[in-house]
Amino acid sequence: METLDRECETAGCEKGAKLQCPTCIKLGIPGSFFCSQECFKSNWKSHKVIHALVRLEGEGNEKSNEYCPWPYYNFTGKLKPFPQTPKRTVPAGIGRPDYADHPQGFPLSEQAVKGSGHIKVLDDEEIEGMKVACKLGREVLDEAARVCDVGVTTDEIDRIVHEACIERECYPSPLNYYEFPASCCTSVNEVICHGIPDSRPLEDGDICNVDVTVYHRGFHGDLNETFFVGNVNDKVKDLVKVTYDCLQKAIEIVKPGEKYREIGNVIQKHAQAHGYSVVKSYCGHGIHRLFHTAPNVPHYAKNRAIGVMKPGHCFTIEPMISVGTWKDEMWPDKWTAVTADGQWSAQFEQTLLVNETGCEILTRRREKNGQPHFMDKM
Ligand SMILES: [Zn+2]
Ligand SMILES: [Zn+2]
Repeated sequence: METLDRECETAGCEKGAKLQCPTCIKLGIPGSFFCSQECFKSNWKSHKVIHALVRLEGEGNEKSNEYCPWPYYNFTGKLKPFPQTPKRTVPAGIGRPDYADHPQGFPLSEQAVKGSGHIKVLDDEEIEGMKVACKLGREVLDEAARVCDVGVTTDEIDRIVHEACIERECYPSPLNYYEFPASCCTSVNEVICHGIPDSRPLEDGDICNVDVTVYHRGFHGDLNETFFVGNVNDKVKDLVKVTYDCLQKAIEIVKPGEKYREIGNVIQKHAQAHGYSVVKSYCGHGIHRLFHTAPNVPHYAKNRAIGVMKPGHCFTIEPMISVGTWKDEMWPDKWTAVTADGQWSAQFEQTLLVNETGCEILTRRREKNGQPHFMDKM
């Protein structure tokens, strides 16, 4: 009989089950629900056998060089997770955001103003702080661009980003944000965003987005670019170029009096004209002393975003454009967002400051005529 509520798995116990075995969650084993700690403990001896079986299966896979943390998960595409290295540490002398030392990585200062919808107008001192943080963020991303190549692991890119942050007296903002385990996000191929750097070597023909945010003297600067790895085919080059152009076109409309909801119309119009879709689940965001705050900036058309741009507003635009469906799903690591159909997705991001006549791209590239790195390889 199928009932709405799950029943405890203990033989003879018919109570509703609310607890799931934490080891099963980690190993990706479905089911394993119990009504209480007591029932779970009384089952432990027989239950733990399933962990051993699944781990054995995993070891068999390791022999064929395949790490398999979630044996029951159906991947949407070809990309698989590889082992990660432990969280890196930041020297004590570098200023840290509140979540850096929170046990669950909660950004309490962000949570305190959540839902207010108020968009902060930065004063001159705060604008100067943002300019410095964003310039340093750009330098760090440029370091990542230099090493992103065939055979390099995304963990190695993370190490470069981490060290480049420390050299510039920056805390890498993603580190421990809601317990994120690395210093940047690396999103390869069908990964839309929030990919966790790991020991997979990049392959010829891959695309790899590196999303860097640095925290410097109280301010966050956030940007990302998608890089070509080796020789990328023309269809993939087109996806990346169109994604970059979506961002550029959106930036062009930023000026005082413009509605935040217009950004999505511009982006979707351009993406759709080239046969691509716009990811809906992840948005641009206000940024300054807080990493993610008001305004919320959707990238899709006909959105209902609240707010009108004013001089002194600081926010990101970061469209994620996909070859196939706009729908996303999440890996069991609770971070990696992938396309639901396994087709590839690209992204670019800049942090912008609204000024009297338009906006300043605070995270702009300052060498090579300001063009994105992928154009060096076109
Ligand atoms: Zn970012
Ligand atoms: Zn962002």
